[in-house]
Amino acid sequence: MPNDDAFQHRLTNALQNLESSVQRRIRRCVEAVSTTECMVDGQRCLSFATNDYLGLTRHPDIVAAFANMAAKQVGAGASGLIAGRSPHHVRLEEALAEFESTESAILFPSGFAANTGTLTSLIGKKDAVFCDRENHASLIDGCRASAGKFFVYDRTELDRLVESIERRRSDYDAVFIVTDTVFSMDGTLADLPNLCDIAERSQSTMIVDEAHGTGVFGATGRGVCERQNVGHRIPVKIGTLSKAIGGLGGFVVGSATLCEWLWNSARSQFFSTALPPAVCAAAAAALQVISNEPERRRNLAVRSAFARRLLHENELEVIAAPSDSPIIAVLLRDDELAVRVSRRLAAHGVFIPAVRPPTVAAGTSRLRISLCCDHSEDQIRSAVYQLRDVVKSERR
Ligand code: PMP
Repeated sequence: MPNDDAFQHRLTNALQNLESSVQRRIRRCVEAVSTTECMVDGQRCLSFATNDYLGLTRHPDIVAAFANMAAKQVGAGASGLIAGRSPHHVRLEEALAEFESTESAILFPSGFAANTGTLTSLIGKKDAVFCDRENHASLIDGCRASAGKFFVYDRTELDRLVESIERRRSDYDAVFIVTDTVFSMDGTLADLPNLCDIAERSQSTMIVDEAHGTGVFGATGRGVCERQNVGHRIPVKIGTLSKAIGGLGGFVVGSATLCEWLWNSARSQFFSTALPPAVCAAAAAALQVISNEPERRRNLAVRSAFARRLLHENELEVIAAPSDSPIIAVLLRDDELAVRVSRRLAAHGVFIPAVRPPTVAAGTSRLRISLCCDHSEDQIRSAVYQLRDVVKSERR
């Protein structure tokens, strides 16, 4: 079919363009062997590539909670609005609200859907939204897809954010400030107290995404909001069940009114099939584990500080972040170098993904190390030494 030929040709060209700008992604097959090891295209590797910070993807209590329910039912069969909200969904929403000390919680099919659905449902056409430049794609897409006016700010220049909001505040009904609490590409944290001050002074509303904070930060694992003691100042908190919680799905916690509004207006929630009940049972069990096994969080912090120190001692350039942040960005800057180093490391049995534009800014290509509380010091040492040697030989 001539038409189809033209279509395929267009795609081939587009892929070639990605190839020549070192932006083409390969589709790997990765099989987890444990929380710290995996098979990458048949090669056994130490894995520093997942967001399974607390090792909960394989926790026996959580696996059992999942398996018990999965033995009876797979899919939810319908969206929550119609017939998909089972007692497991209700129990998980209640558990999330209790965990987060909020009035209410509402589930979404994924963290991505929670971000886009919440932002498009809250930000109207007479509103403005200020979004951190380095926010996750789902926050940026949600802000862009909303009817409001979209502004980007740089978290290293909060004075300019203040000035920008002040100048425009009276032009808009409502103003929102949207930020990740942990920036997923370098492990740095947002300055939430300062952002809350800015929001309160300008009568704006804070929306935060705790995707990489839940379970990891804070005395009881409630995230960066807990660590920085601002939970009560944040009316909209979005989370995911897919990272430290070890499963799949997204959620929003806040007032009963907020959740009721999202239930009635967040399209990614009610036009999508509800999570499988087994996934909800697993997540509820994971919340228990986070509360009952604080040593997982403490070990993760110790391992993260150890890895950072070792990288530094071995003269690898790391983006500065709190020592206990489990996401560590090793800056290589050059796109091709980052890809080559990551491939060679995998061939040597260490899996650390390369991250390059457009995911990060041009000239900041990096390897993203992500730690799990189960990583041993020996595993970390072995990965850092391999990394040092491969970088040295590739730079020569
Ligand atoms: N927010 C952030 C900061 C993320 O890193 C991600 C996933 N990489 C998401 C949201 C999306 O979450 P999910 O994978 O549950 O869709």
